[in-house]
Amino acid sequence: MSKAAPQKVTVLGAGPIGLEAALYAKSSGLSVAVYDRGAIADHVRQWGHVRMFTPFGMNATSLGLKTLLREKGSRSLPAPTDLITGREFRDAYLVPLGESEQLLESLHLEHTVLHVGRAARGFRILVRASNGTERIDTADAVLDCTGTFGTPRWLGDAGIPAVGELAARPHIAFGVEDVLGDRKDHYAGRSVALIGDGYSAAASICALATLAEEHHATWVFWITRGARGQPLPRVANDPYKERDRLAVKANSLATRCDGNLEFHPQTVLDEVVSHGPDKGFRIAGRSNGKPVSWEVERVIANVGYRPDLTLGVSDPNYVVLGAKAGDAGFLVRTGFDQIRAAFAVLTGNPRLDLYDKKAA
Ligand SMILES: Cc1cc2nc3c(=O)[nH]c(=O)nc-3n(C[C@H](O)[C@H](O)[C@H](O)COP(=O)(O)OP(=O)(O)OC[C@H]3O[C@@H](n4cnc5c(N)ncnc54)[C@H](O)[C@@H]3O)c2cc1C
Repeated sequence: MSKAAPQKVTVLGAGPIGLEAALYAKSSGLSVAVYDRGAIADHVRQWGHVRMFTPFGMNATSLGLKTLLREKGSRSLPAPTDLITGREFRDAYLVPLGESEQLLESLHLEHTVLHVGRAARGFRILVRASNGTERIDTADAVLDCTGTFGTPRWLGDAGIPAVGELAARPHIAFGVEDVLGDRKDHYAGRSVALIGDGYSAAASICALATLAEEHHATWVFWITRGARGQPLPRVANDPYKERDRLAVKANSLATRCDGNLEFHPQTVLDEVVSHGPDKGFRIAGRSNGKPVSWEVERVIANVGYRPDLTLGVSDPNYVVLGAKAGDAGFLVRTGFDQIRAAFAVLTGNPRLDLYDKKAA
């Protein structure tokens, strides 16, 4: 390792990439602190009921697997080809990794990183614990693995909030709601506006359609900006069959428009007004240029996520990794490549590669 290489690394976020980055740092002989404002892999926990489309073998590294096998021995890990849910991924791999001897002492859960600044002798990081106490941590390098799931995109046209959206936001569901599980009572028999046309929206519409079959009073307005026809673009020869299956099913629901579902493509929103907690919404906009409006009881916004740019410093030793550094189709596996590349630069050792190519 070169003389200028950092000795103390702070990782922001204990998601899949933050945990792996921390493990990589530890395995490179560096001192590490990891902060997460919630629990281990808190964002994965929030979409835990969703089945992942990449097999477990793509979502784990050789370093992580070796750590778990060494410490837990006979613990049963999923098979590399298993398609598991986010919850299973978290329970079988991410939580044990965070609680491993390698990482446990470095991990500070329920600690929110508020600000990061660059001083002459390194980074200063303002952290607030859940009991309100604040302190400053210092580091030679900061790895920002805070993801994007905590900052959903705005619903209005041109990427800004719709009229009323800022006030309505606490009542809008972002993310993939567990409408057939924990959140069933909240959605069964209700009128629901689902906004968005990505894979999260596809998962939501499939679940809502199933719910409507069971509870006939459920009525769903699926609102997308894209052109008429098939809302989900299909990847030619998609290697991830689970993802393709979701796209096909969602497209078929949009085309058939049965199951208490109305599909409204080419629609932009100008207003999302909440009538108060549990009192419903008025949403309005333009569909093909013509004014439209609906009164609905629930709004689910699956319009994608944006990076939180309030956290960040322009410095070669402040490195953004994971979903925050990726595009909309970010895969956990891409994050592992980011980690390897980042440490090769940070340590000044371009040949550093701690991943076993056969296993990771
Ligand atoms: C529904 C869904 C399904 C997906 N399925 C797949 C799949 O099958 N395969 C695949 O490869 N990818 C999938 N992804 C995409 C992606 O791999 C995941 O989003 C992954 O969780 C990204 O990991 P990350 O560590 O970069 O960020 P995150 O998992 O978002 O973790 C960020 C962490 O940072 C913490 N944090 C945020 N801000 C702060 C702060 N200020 N201070 C302290 N902590 C903070 C959060 O609490 C969180 O724990 C899916 C995504 C979603 C939403």
